[in-house]
Amino acid sequence: MDWEPYLPLIAALVALLVGLAVGKAWERYKLRDGRWIDRRKARDSQHYVLGLNFLVSNQIDLAIEELSRAARVDADALEIHLILGNVYRERGQVSRAIQVHQALLQRPKLTRLEHGYVLLCLGLDFKRGGFVDRALEAFKEVLRLAPDNQYALLYLEKLHEEQHQWDEAYRIRRQLVDLSGPDTHARNQAILGFLENALGAEAQKAERADEAARHFESAIATDASTTPAYLNLGDVRLLAGDAPGAIAVWTELMEVAPERAHLALERLERLYAQQGMPQLFETECRRFVASRPQDWRARLALGVHLTKRGQAAQAVAPLFEALERNPHGLTVHQAIWTVLLQLDLDRALVQRYIEAARSAVFFLDPHVCLKCHYRSTELLWQCPHCHEWNSFVEERIAAAQQSSSEM
Ligand SMILES: [Zn+2]
Repeated sequence: MDWEPYLPLIAALVALLVGLAVGKAWERYKLRDGRWIDRRKARDSQHYVLGLNFLVSNQIDLAIEELSRAARVDADALEIHLILGNVYRERGQVSRAIQVHQALLQRPKLTRLEHGYVLLCLGLDFKRGGFVDRALEAFKEVLRLAPDNQYALLYLEKLHEEQHQWDEAYRIRRQLVDLSGPDTHARNQAILGFLENALGAEAQKAERADEAARHFESAIATDASTTPAYLNLGDVRLLAGDAPGAIAVWTELMEVAPERAHLALERLERLYAQQGMPQLFETECRRFVASRPQDWRARLALGVHLTKRGQAAQAVAPLFEALERNPHGLTVHQAIWTVLLQLDLDRALVQRYIEAARSAVFFLDPHVCLKCHYRSTELLWQCPHCHEWNSFVEERIAAAQQSSSEM
């Protein structure tokens, strides 16, 4: 799931929810204590409401100012300190965040719920600051207090993934599967598939081929769209001398995920060349494109293959077909220029190329919004997405590095 850009927002929302829940528990606790303190004093203060409003509108400095004032109105209010700490973290003041949250842990008579929330926030502080071991410890402590805390499980899984501790990540995802409803089934299977594939890749690296193969097979069984598992399984089989097995699983990938077929085709081209039967690759490409009128990558692969083998005249047709289907890909244009050169810039073909390329659309002058990452083909003064003024900068795209060596 691509939620990286939304993390600060999610964190702020979590902080709010956490704050509300903790606030309720706090209220109850104080009533039991018998002393009369107006628990809602701080939250009723305009500073608190203003602080939250500034937080939501991303005016962090003002939010901190108002929340700090609200905290002074009622120094005991746990939720305000919790949120303040989170805001410090989100703007990179990690040690300050840790300080605030650790001070909360020192409070006597924290309820189990409060204890868990403070630890969760502290774990996020450690994670943000790069203190991986302490973050792991904090999240595990949360789970000791509340074994079904899905936030703690999710953060713990991410930490293990970052550390390439795939076994632990896999185990935690299984726990999350048990805790979540059927609506997340497909998503969970996809993640489990990729984690299983990572376990296989690890075994493959350590030259434990049988174990690797079992993981890759299991990844495919878990979720048939785990593309890298097909590629890796073929690699393992080929290394063990099972070329037909490799061909079988790569061909299967082309059927299951035709939009990723080019990844299998790269490998098939190499294998058939090694076996001294390059014409089998041509056959495979032609078989594949015959039933897929939209595909451009297999047509490109076929054209490049024929060009490399000195059959430029035969390469023209599949390359122009690729160009018609994707006139925006620079790799297609490069392949066509290579073939045109081999054909001594045949005037009729160059003319045909110019006409076909006329429909090509490239980003003439790409710009991106610094605030929300909205992309535009030209400089704009106000972002149509987040409505910020003057937020666009020139987007620099690095040149592709592979293509020159391949052509
Ligand atoms: Zn924007």
